[in-house]
Formats: sequence, C-alpha cells, structure tokens
Amino acid sequence: MTADQKWKAVSENDEQYDSIFFYGVKSTKIFCRPSCKSKLPLKRNIVYFDSIKQAVKAGHRPCKRCRPDLLEYQPIREIAEKIKLLLNRYFNQENELAKEIGQIGVTGRRMVNIFKEYYGITPKKYYNYLRIEEAKKQLINTNDKIIDIAYGVGFASLSAFYTIFKKNTNLSPAKYRKGNNHGIRSEN
Ligand SMILES: [Zn+2]
Repeated sequence: MTADQKWKAVSENDEQYDSIFFYGVKSTKIFCRPSCKSKLPLKRNIVYFDSIKQAVKAGHRPCKRCRPDLLEYQPIREIAEKIKLLLNRYFNQENELAKEIGQIGVTGRRMVNIFKEYYGITPKKYYNYLRIEEAKKQLINTNDKIIDIAYGVGFASLSAFYTIFKKNTNLSPAKYRKGNNHGIRSEN
C-alpha cells in the first residue's frame, strides 16, 4: 500500500485494513488500528507501521480505545496462508470453502483484502485459476463431457466456465481439448 492509500484508510476508519497496517501519532507515541474512532491526527504527525512489533520497537504504545495489540494473535501472514490452503483444498466446493473460511474468523471484503495484500491476487482469481488448471487436466486426460467438467471443477454455470477458460487460455474448452487430446476420441 502507498502512504496515500493508508491515509485514506485511516481517514475513513476503514476496518478492513486492521492488522494489515497500523498508524502511530508522533506527538503522543500511541499507535492505532486504521479503524480507530479517535480524532483523526494531522497527516504530518502520522507514522505507519507494518506490524505491532515495529510500532512497539519505535516506542509507541497501543491505543486504549482500539486496542491494536489485541490483533497480534492473528498475524496477517498466517491468515493469508490459511486462506490459500483452503482455496487449494476446496476450490471446487463453494459451500465447503465458505464454511471453512468462516471458521478462520475473517470473511467478506476483509478476507479478500488480506489475501490480495499478501499474494497480489484476489481469492476469486486464484481459485478460478485452480479450477481452470484442473479443467485443463480433465479435458486432456478424460472423455468427460465439458459440462460435467465445468461443474466438477466448481463453476456454477457453463457460461462462466467458458468465459474464464477462454480468458486464461485464449481457447474454448473444446478447442483446447482438440489441440491436446490426441489419443482420446473426441466428443461433443
Ligand atoms: Zn486507537
């Protein structure tokens, strides 16, 4: 994140950035979560920290109001890695995936932001990538119908599958299969 993006998050009390970064106030030596409802400090008095450790090291104390220190038990990297693990495992089972991710304790936009911040890609893009990779394998190695493959790898509709497949490979699933699937008799 740039300093401008951080400033925007702080001035909007945007809680989806909580634990992605922290901000301290130079004059008071107190640090906060971006979502802290305390009075907005002057921009020039703000200093940003990536972690609680960093803030403490710089001599800042946690704010009594937003208690940024209470976020420490869930380091961002751990959350991001957990989400990735679940995406790898459940990319083709939407309900199961939602359930498992819910158990981490972060959902919705915040989950998306943590993942994106850490891996540079949204969870959706990532699991679509996994789905397409799996579909490619099945197109080449099986004679399964394309519609069955589409649902099997987790797409909710055939048209969504076609759109994303084409975006990733520049080919339709049928063309992709035809181009790679020499040994197996083709099917419509
Ligand atoms: Zn605070």
